[in-house]
Amino acid sequence: MKTQDKPVLIVGAGLAGSLMAIYLAKKGLQVAVYESRPDMRTMTMSAGRSINLALSDRGIKSLREVGVLKQVLQEAVPMPGRMLHSKEGVLKFAPYGKDSSQYINSISRGGLNKLLITAAESYENVTFYFNQSCVDVDFESVTITTEHYQTKERVVVAGATIIGGDGANSAVRQAMLNNLEGYSDRVDWLEHGYKELNIPATKDGGFAIEKNALHIWPRGEYMLIALPNADGSFTCTLFFPNQGNISFESLDTPEKIKAFFEEEFADAVPNLPHLLEEFANNPVGKLGTLHCNNWIYEDKAVLIGDAAHAIVPFYGQGMNASFEDCSALSACIDASMEQQGTPDWKSIYAQYFEHRKANGDAIGDLAVENFYEMRDHVANPVFRRKRELEHTLENDYDDYHSKYSLVTFKPDVSYKVASELGNKQDKLLMKLCQDIDDVKKLDINTVYKQLKALR
Ligand SMILES: Cc1cc2nc3c(=O)[nH]c(=O)nc-3n(C[C@H](O)[C@H](O)[C@H](O)COP(=O)(O)OP(=O)(O)OC[C@H]3O[C@@H](n4cnc5c(N)ncnc54)[C@H](O)[C@@H]3O)c2cc1C
Repeated sequence: MKTQDKPVLIVGAGLAGSLMAIYLAKKGLQVAVYESRPDMRTMTMSAGRSINLALSDRGIKSLREVGVLKQVLQEAVPMPGRMLHSKEGVLKFAPYGKDSSQYINSISRGGLNKLLITAAESYENVTFYFNQSCVDVDFESVTITTEHYQTKERVVVAGATIIGGDGANSAVRQAMLNNLEGYSDRVDWLEHGYKELNIPATKDGGFAIEKNALHIWPRGEYMLIALPNADGSFTCTLFFPNQGNISFESLDTPEKIKAFFEEEFADAVPNLPHLLEEFANNPVGKLGTLHCNNWIYEDKAVLIGDAAHAIVPFYGQGMNASFEDCSALSACIDASMEQQGTPDWKSIYAQYFEHRKANGDAIGDLAVENFYEMRDHVANPVFRRKRELEHTLENDYDDYHSKYSLVTFKPDVSYKVASELGNKQDKLLMKLCQDIDDVKKLDINTVYKQLKALR
């Protein structure tokens, strides 16, 4: 196989950068990955930073393409639905899909990232450089300047092209901003932040609450969620206003925190033995949506993953979308290499951007909308009737898919199409459910026909 002289430079060995390295390695391309942090396989993870993630079919498709899916799923916990916890402690299970064959997977972020790095490193044409922060990019010479985090030694590295997989605060994107005419970006911050808490495994290593569910305590202005880990513990995330009457700012004493949790999340409290320490010590994370008008620079550079489209986590799609980027970029490279033997980066990047940008925008918007849905609507009777109706429709008609299913379980439908069709369906179903008190009063076949007319 023909290989280029200089390596493809990937900045960031996170989820997207490591997966992209595997895709490129399989094509026989030389790859050098520069990561600012130490090698996570030699470290213990710091507490309080998004320990587990929901992996769904778009991410699964990409992991299958590079041949690591089986290994990844070995450690995953399937979640076929949401378990809603009312203030009184009443539980209600709401399936995500039509039956238990449709589920999302709770996986360890660190475990997955380590697995991807090891899989990429198993190819002799891939080299990882840890502790090396990209501090400058020169697009004309296609070089990056890296700085060792301890010695501060700087090195200029030349590549065939540069892939920015360096997350929401991307240095590659910042360099584009400084160099590309007409380039602009902005972050829309939510007024809510998040804090992670932990439900440990029971003494005998079991799960303290239902294992196979994504638990939600929806409470209007805020919510608590919990995702299972393979070791019996759950990682909980409190999404909460940063400021105001009830906020991270206002819960400033152990007494206030304890009283608040006992009032709002009473059934969770006995399972949160370290609540007060964790609340005091774990950081508050920020939540924002990145909008940038360009992800590419001629044949010199491209952005993937959060570097291009960081989104809020409420559709559980940030990583899945990032993995889909890698798959899409890989397909564009394959097409180019098939035509002429070596990658024509300029046309590859143009095609990738054309294909992915609208989808990045769509999932960014969907994720913000789902924040309000998870927070308020799941406890709202009209929304619950709508979910019940959708569930019946999905069971009775193979070709009906709710918006959630389109986004989560249908990787062959783009985010853009899923969003457009899903929103039209939602509007109709909410209207129908507003006017009745029981979905059984609706003629399901008439509803189905109305929905079909929307396609
Ligand atoms: C609370 C929370 C929950 C989430 N839940 C889900 C979920 O359930 N499902 C889902 O699909 N997504 C979820 N996400 C989103 C998901 O975490 C991200 O979309 C995903 O991590 C993006 O991967 P990435 O590789 O693009 O970026 P990152 O994972 O941020 O990786 C970027 C890498 O680049 C490195 N880096 C940064 N700057 C430099 C530099 N200058 N030089 C060299 N290296 C650099 C970083 O150290 C890091 O290793 C969640 C996010 C949050 C915050």
